[in-house]
Amino acid sequence: MGEQIAAFSDIQDREKPALAIVVPCFNESEVLERTAEVLAEKVRVLVGSGFISEKSRILFVDDGSRDDTWEKIVWLVSEEPESTVFSGIKFAHNRGHQNAVYAGLMEAYASGYDCAVSMDADLQDDPNAIDEMLREYKTGAEIVYGVRNNRDTDTAFKRGTAHAFYGLMSALGTHTIPDHADFRLMGRCALAALGEYEESNLFLRGIVPDLGFTTAKVYYKRAERQAGQSKYPLGKMIGFALEGITSFSVKPIRLIMVLGGVSFVLAVAALIYTLVSLAQGHAVAGWTSIMASIWLLGSAFLVSLGIIGEYIGKIYVEVKNRPRYIVEKRVGME
Ligand code: UDP
Ligand code: MG
Repeated sequence: MGEQIAAFSDIQDREKPALAIVVPCFNESEVLERTAEVLAEKVRVLVGSGFISEKSRILFVDDGSRDDTWEKIVWLVSEEPESTVFSGIKFAHNRGHQNAVYAGLMEAYASGYDCAVSMDADLQDDPNAIDEMLREYKTGAEIVYGVRNNRDTDTAFKRGTAHAFYGLMSALGTHTIPDHADFRLMGRCALAALGEYEESNLFLRGIVPDLGFTTAKVYYKRAERQAGQSKYPLGKMIGFALEGITSFSVKPIRLIMVLGGVSFVLAVAALIYTLVSLAQGHAVAGWTSIMASIWLLGSAFLVSLGIIGEYIGKIYVEVKNRPRYIVEKRVGME
């Protein structure tokens, strides 16, 4: 398997690569035309200056949108009949941002592109950073992360929770994860390696650093969403964070042991205390300590069960081995 992946590095063109820009879209009708315009211009300029191959294009992945996102993608493709800048695939239902990005990357790989950049549909990721990413790619980087140099445009709450999340991920001793919003370039070789990861619980920000390869970072200023609303409400964000932690670390499950040990020490101390009180003849005062220990242990059990449940839930999902997504339609793809 390793040899098979290594062989791909020989067939990628680093001089004038065919680039695919993968854009996941979920109910992005409001911003889509603007994004398409900006990205098409970017591709035209890069192709024009001979920086990338004429085969380069923008690949929209409609993640089962409920608005007219797909109709707009089809329209965009039909508007550009000769230059074929756009193409699209449509999921049969909403499978989430991570699956949409993954599907786009795999599609780009299968269609023979040399490298792929994934970026959000709302233009928060700066398209101009792609130039610098390509420069890094040309000088040998296989994976280039787009790292935001500030979070000024995020709300204080989002900044705080993101900080806590990346802090917790490092504290748990998993990979150092660059604080990037799935805005990155991957070469053909890295895409092939990514295709080998078969887990259903996809957390690309964790998997991609796990691939290895020569990596580089490009800093950019993250802009405001250009139109429409965030598709990551608090609930989804918490789910995403839990996914990230439990997909990449078994430390929380080990914490249960620590928790058990601490409860045990506390219980012994309580026992000694009650025995001493009994010996001194004022034992009836024990009600408070009993109640306290019941609650303490009760909560420790619940937390522990919750953590175990989280992992068992993961095993359940993985064992079923269902397809990650179902592609219903394609436009503008050879
Ligand atoms: N997205 C998706 N499927 C989803 C949710 C979001 O494909 O279920 C896409 C969305 O269209 C956008 C990107 O993921 O291109 C990031 O979402 P958003 O901008 O809403 O997140 P935020 O920037 O607010 O974290
Ligand atoms: Mg956004």
